This record gives sequence, structure tokens and C-alpha cells, in this order.
Amino acid sequence: MPQTPTAPPHEQLSRRVTAALGKLGLALRSEARAGASSRGMSPTQGEILVFLLRSPGSSLSEVAEALSVTRPTVSDAVDTLVRKGFVTKNKAERDPRILSLVLTEAGTAEAQLATGWPDKLHGAVDTLSKEEQAVWFRGLVKMIDRLREGGSIQAVRMCTACKHFRRNASANASAPHRCALLEIDFSDLDLRIECPEFGAR
Ligand code: SF4
Repeated sequence: MPQTPTAPPHEQLSRRVTAALGKLGLALRSEARAGASSRGMSPTQGEILVFLLRSPGSSLSEVAEALSVTRPTVSDAVDTLVRKGFVTKNKAERDPRILSLVLTEAGTAEAQLATGWPDKLHGAVDTLSKEEQAVWFRGLVKMIDRLREGGSIQAVRMCTACKHFRRNASANASAPHRCALLEIDFSDLDLRIECPEFGAR
């Protein structure tokens, strides 16, 4: 007698979500590697350029923390980028003992090339409805928080990890959270994922 097909067990959905996220992560990494190596750079060098595009003036330690790699690895990669004319190292105004890393014009152009794939990804995300995007965003923030709390991700410059974040501190129902630094109220969907004003706790 033919078997009636049954739906996969509910508990397996989390595994399928994990597998799908793994595919996306794999695609991101392989595209970053291919892009960087076609331009004669290591993946780490490419990631540093992209990070400095978003966070100019960062120190070696800040880059190392953000990319979850060791400081010596970042130091070697930055030295190479300096030799290639993509990055300059200067004493930071905030503290002359710290070296501040800034992209040159050529480095900025390279970094913009390296951000091409996220644009493709953005195009794919844009095909989701606003409701689907909201569910994804909330879910991803929650997952990043769990991984951060478990020590699996260290460099998270997003609101929920920030010392200025006040959850549900506003009387505004549509914007219940508050940034004590910027003195703004915002909703779950306006949480910043990479904030230049982030303050570590
Ligand atoms: S400083 Fe930035 S990361 Fe921190 S709560 Fe304000 S907006 Fe969020």
C-alpha cells in the first residue's frame, strides 16, 4: 500500500533554517574570497577595506575585534594594504598613542568594488515583502544576541549590545526603545546593526 507523504516534523524546521543560513554564509565567504583574490588581495585584506569604508579612523584593535581575527593578523594585512597604497596609518586625534587607519582614494575605490556582493544580496532581500523582511530582521537580531551572549560573536556594534541602549524606556508605543546618547526613540525595526556611536558595556 502506498505511503501517505507526511510533513517534515516541526522540530526539523530549525535545522533547515540553520542549513539555509549556512548556504548564505558560504556564498558570502566564497564571493568575498573570489573578489579579493581576483584583485590580488587576501580575504582579510578585502574585509579590512570594507570595514574601514564604514568605520574610518578605526584602530588595529578595533578592526581585529570587528573581524574576529587576531591583532597580529590585522597588523600584517594592514601593512600590506599600506604598501599597496590603499590605507594610511596616522596618530589618532582622540589618543596619539593609537594608530588610526584611513582609506586612501585608491583604497576607497577597492572597498567599493568589494561591497558589490552585498548589493546583490540586498537585491534578493528586496524581493521579500516588508512583513517578511521584518520577521527576518527581528529573528536575525535575536540570533545575533544569543550568539553574542554565548561568546560566539564578540564584535557586535549593534544597539542591543550598546551601553546607551534603553529597551522599552520610551512611552512612545511605536518607538519604545531609547538611545540615551543620541536621545532618540526607535522601534525594533530601527535597531542599528553597525553603529559608529556604539559604546561597549
Ligand atoms: S549609540 Fe548607536 S548602537 Fe548605541 S543605542 Fe545609540 S544608536 Fe544604538
